Amino acid sequence: MSDIDLSGRGAIVTGSTSGIGLGIAHQLARAGANVMLNGFGDAGEIENIRAGMVSDYGVTVGYSGADMSHGAAARGLITDAQAAIGDVDILVNNAGIQHVAPIDEFPPEKWEMIIAINLVSSFHTINAALAGMKARNFGRIVNIASAHGLVASPYKSAYVAAKHGLVGLTKTVALEVAETGITCNAICPGFVQTPLVDGQIDDQAKVNNMSREEVIRDIVLASQPSKRFVEAGHIADTVLFLCGPAGASFTGASLSIDGGWTAR
Ligand code: NAD
Repeated sequence: MSDIDLSGRGAIVTGSTSGIGLGIAHQLARAGANVMLNGFGDAGEIENIRAGMVSDYGVTVGYSGADMSHGAAARGLITDAQAAIGDVDILVNNAGIQHVAPIDEFPPEKWEMIIAINLVSSFHTINAALAGMKARNFGRIVNIASAHGLVASPYKSAYVAAKHGLVGLTKTVALEVAETGITCNAICPGFVQTPLVDGQIDDQAKVNNMSREEVIRDIVLASQPSKRFVEAGHIADTVLFLCGPAGASFTGASLSIDGGWTAR
């Protein structure tokens, strides 16, 4: 049990039916926040997650399948959350997808989808949530960027562009609200073993005719000096920290949790 108490706070975590976002949603609910889940997946499994969090943590948990590739749906998520869980004090922009291809072979529709989900949706959610945060003079906005928000890798043009954009958006929002009780920070994780990365491991294994173990060692973790995946729980702990009292002094920061990747 964390000693950071978020009782009475309302939190939205986009893309929280899986991976990093699901870990963040659990951590915030465990600390007492009412949580709005979002993302895709099997309806029965999502309901099990939602009901399990209600019974484990005794908080209100809502769910919306709003598609973050559509601006109107991203904005609607804020109003749906207000109806389901009350005021939105914490906004974690986490939904994201990936596609790996050389720039001259990159499908334009994939490019647009990645920019829409990984970058533009955060503009819409922040734009829609900020008025309430300003009225209460409290807010915690956490954007889940990536080490790829700070450095590039080949074949990930859309992802790298979106994540660099998200880091820029984070800094701008932080400056605009710096004199209020609202903070805005980015978290820049290295590789975390989630379904998003598992898909890349499978693709690379096929393309390079390698085993999954070889891909993990020689390709995925080649840039991560620790040679270990980052744990999703450590990202969730960092979000919780930013929502707690000491988080008040952090704003406009890009917090690397990357096993030393961007220290090179
Ligand atoms: P994941 O695939 O496990 O989860 C992605 C979540 O986003 C799921 O809940 C999915 O349903 C949701 N989602 C996808 N498209 C959506 C849409 N259009 N609208 C609403 N929800 C949608 O991925 P993950 O690894 O947990 O990634 C979460 C975030 O962390 C992403 O922004 C990703 O870029 C970032 N990240 C991941 C890693 C990593 O190594 N896994 C590293 C750095 C940053």
